[in-house]
Amino acid sequence: MIRLPTELNEVLQQGGTVIVPSRQRAHAARLAHAAAELRRGQRVWATPDILSVDAWLTREVERYAATGGTNVPRLLSPAEEWFLWRQCAAEATGELELVNRGALAEALRRASALAAEFGIDILRAATTRRRSAPADSTAGVGSTEALGLAEASDNGSSQTALAEQTAALADEPGTEAALLADVQLAVDERCRSLGAATVASLVPQLASAAARAGATAAGSAAAFGGAGAWSVRGAEAPPAVASGFLVLPPRLRSLVTPARDVPSTEAVVPNVVIATDELDELERIAEWCRTQVQHNAEVRILITLPGAPGTRERLATLIRQAINPARWLTGSGAGSGSATADGQAAVPADSLVVIEGGSPLSQIPAVAHALSTLSWLSGNPGDFEAVSNWLRAPYWMSPGEVPRARLDLSLRERERMQFNLRDLTGALAGVPSALASAAKEITSQINKATLLLGQGAASPRDWSERFRAALEAFGWPGERARDSGEQQTVVRFYELLDEFGQLAAAARSISRSNAVQWFGELATRTAFRPADDDAVVTITSALAAPVVRYDAIWVAGLHAEAFPQPVQPDPFIPLAAQLAAGVPAASANGRLAEARALLTQWRTSADTLVLSAPSRAEDLELLPSPLLAEWIHSSEKAIAEQAIVGELTLAERPAFAEGPTLAEGPTLAEGPPAAPGSLWLPTRIHREGLLETVEDGVGVQWPVEKPLPSGTRSLELQNQCPFRAYAELRLGSTPLDAPEPGIAADLRGQLLHAALQKLWSRLHDSQGLAALSNYALEAAIHRCVEEAASETQRNSPSQRTRPSAVSDAQGDLFGNPQYSPALTRECRRAEKLIGALCALERERAAFRVESTELETTLTVSGARLNMRIDRVDALETGGRAILDYKSGRRGTADWYGERPSHPQLLAYLAALGDDVTGMATVNVTAREVRFDGIANVGELLPKVKGVEADFGTDPGDAWPKWRQEWRSRIEQLAAAFVAGRAAVDPKPGACDYCHVASICRISDRVAPAEGDEPALGGEDA
Ligand code: SF4
Repeated sequence: MIRLPTELNEVLQQGGTVIVPSRQRAHAARLAHAAAELRRGQRVWATPDILSVDAWLTREVERYAATGGTNVPRLLSPAEEWFLWRQCAAEATGELELVNRGALAEALRRASALAAEFGIDILRAATTRRRSAPADSTAGVGSTEALGLAEASDNGSSQTALAEQTAALADEPGTEAALLADVQLAVDERCRSLGAATVASLVPQLASAAARAGATAAGSAAAFGGAGAWSVRGAEAPPAVASGFLVLPPRLRSLVTPARDVPSTEAVVPNVVIATDELDELERIAEWCRTQVQHNAEVRILITLPGAPGTRERLATLIRQAINPARWLTGSGAGSGSATADGQAAVPADSLVVIEGGSPLSQIPAVAHALSTLSWLSGNPGDFEAVSNWLRAPYWMSPGEVPRARLDLSLRERERMQFNLRDLTGALAGVPSALASAAKEITSQINKATLLLGQGAASPRDWSERFRAALEAFGWPGERARDSGEQQTVVRFYELLDEFGQLAAAARSISRSNAVQWFGELATRTAFRPADDDAVVTITSALAAPVVRYDAIWVAGLHAEAFPQPVQPDPFIPLAAQLAAGVPAASANGRLAEARALLTQWRTSADTLVLSAPSRAEDLELLPSPLLAEWIHSSEKAIAEQAIVGELTLAERPAFAEGPTLAEGPTLAEGPPAAPGSLWLPTRIHREGLLETVEDGVGVQWPVEKPLPSGTRSLELQNQCPFRAYAELRLGSTPLDAPEPGIAADLRGQLLHAALQKLWSRLHDSQGLAALSNYALEAAIHRCVEEAASETQRNSPSQRTRPSAVSDAQGDLFGNPQYSPALTRECRRAEKLIGALCALERERAAFRVESTELETTLTVSGARLNMRIDRVDALETGGRAILDYKSGRRGTADWYGERPSHPQLLAYLAALGDDVTGMATVNVTAREVRFDGIANVGELLPKVKGVEADFGTDPGDAWPKWRQEWRSRIEQLAAAFVAGRAAVDPKPGACDYCHVASICRISDRVAPAEGDEPALGGEDA
């Protein structure tokens, strides 16, 4: 069970106050108090006065002010305080362009809070400098004196020296300390003009008042204790005790009584685990949690795991899977409370594992959607992905998700990279008629919300109300049934709107864009997590004192580089001042003392304690923290003893560890033991030989009365990978269009094809080409490209090929002003490439262009293929050549393999007849312009090889023989497509650019590397 230390229980029973460092620890202490009351049989009890230090100081200042504290200004709300820092930091850095002012303001505010906590006077120098500056000669009295800070920091010569040092550094313009001092001073001045103050600035005044009232350091705590109004009540008043502080900050020392140290006789000896790596460490923790819960269903565990948030999420999943895999598999949330078949403790899944802390409110999906909506409405542009996410989000009342997904699809085809509200409504107006009603509904919501939001300048209160009204016009957060967490999120969002409205006192009138931006920033700095239950396992990232006593604590990640924690002084406060004030993070000694204090706290806060460190992080070898050394030896000994009695072998446990074995077999009811060493549920439930693999590589037949879909692409894909052909052409799994910069690849190809068609319809043959001078040829190419561009622009749904509203200097001066800059550039590029191709064509033997864009049909294996052949040349040497333009990247051609690289050329060959003597792709790219093909003899086309004859056969027979081979290959591909063959059988390299990898399960076929977890399923298509 989770328990409050006896001393804290006594304090609460006397009606006193317990003050802890963070709201998370306050929550834990309240849970411990509730558990104690329940154990005593209580059903109702008074709320214990357990507060985080910030909440307690705020309350005491408010009480002090409410009961006649003289000259106490109004207390700023947290939002107001943030806003003043934000504004003053922005003003102080107005000349710096690259500063993230929001982040800077937050860092400055934190530095100011740290300085206040440790009594570092950061204002004195700035005040002096301002007074001495002529322009500031009329400035009022500095807030330092007004709030008693100078008085508080001038006690003794060492503090005077410290103040002098700080002043010297803060007096140097351009230093971080000077910036902090300037911004702090500006904030104080703004506070005075508002008749308000921050909590931190009033704490010294509070301490002075308590001291004047005659309270001693310990007794003064009584001045702030109790549930009533603030009063000095001497030693009889309920106590205020601070617990969980590794170092009690100076500002608290005169206000509270530190909790007594727990006797060292109550400290447990920790077990030390050295894990192979970070993943192994997580698995050991999860396994250990499972063992703890099996031994005691009422256990309460704290796990401290510093590092990235994702690691804690992963650990939480592992623990849930380890403790209750059956519930995880069925996906049931709250449990019934009955025992599982294998005797595991029945624990409702919702109360099994919680992660302390929270994430920025702005990152919670429902709030992120609301903020995006406000951002669009205020005229901010966003990229296509942002629009797409907004349209597809589940927080709409109407239209439904299907029409919104279709609208998204339609917008993708418009290829616009950036949208603002006007662009979006314009795009919605141009969607196909089937989507018109959904588009109209969204447009109407946008128009209504825009009206409700309004523009110009208004007070934060007005903006807060308008934001709410605008979101209501969209029906945010939608009609979807919300779980408790989402409901709490929505409530917190509306609270934040109210807090934003309270900025009206600090900012009378702000513009719409500033209001939206600042509200977003406020949401970003507001951490939120829905209220947690009394969970079995609590995971925290903070290396902090637990405050309450747990049954078991595991602290992970204690390698030498992380524990003691690295020295990290605040960059805005002079280092000397931090050292002199005893800020633990500022010195190695401070960090060491902090680490030792933490070890003591952990040892006295748990019945069982495990300290662990990974011995490797990716490629980096890690050593355990030297502070663990004294316990490693005893853990080693324990392991050896367990090995002797056969509990486990040392080989099974590569490092020192505490009691439980790593893998105690499956937690499901039946089956052979799970693979040792892994807790991942898929690995644990995998049973060799119990899964039946069924090869099902054949789908539905293609109706032969219809031509094959997409012409020769069906053969192309069937050749690449039968499953991809089936997925893309039969199941419609085509990749979503995504806007890209410049001209889309398909439009680029269309432009090139159309221009070449027009050019050869004028030139006709090699003689026509040879007859033109270079200048005349350039002019002809230019005309053809211009005509092709006009056609492409007319036929394209894309906005990107249309004239730009903003004139482009390059386009106006050197290109057709009717085209967009991108299309103009593409035209110049196409002219250059076609010019290079014509130079190559001039080297060829005489030819005549017999047809361009020839439409024809091939019937093979009962399948009908409609084809369009780019170009067919009649050759002077006899026969014809098939040419296929390619504007994309080129691979190495393979004509002789089982899966030749250009099935479409083979299909053209099969369609055109026996007089075809060569075929080639014509690659027209910036990298190269070349023919790449095969012919009955070499050099029939530039650099194209002749077909290879088998050894000992007549070379003249090779071409007819291969023609037959290629035709039969085409027949096989067509027959396979018609039959619906859909095996996952990719050609080498085919998966590299395939979009259906997520559904073909190709990864199941890749042999797992040694140490990989086994694959789970079959290989069906
Ligand atoms: S990813 Fe590979 S195996 Fe899967 S469908 Fe695509 S080409 Fe075939």
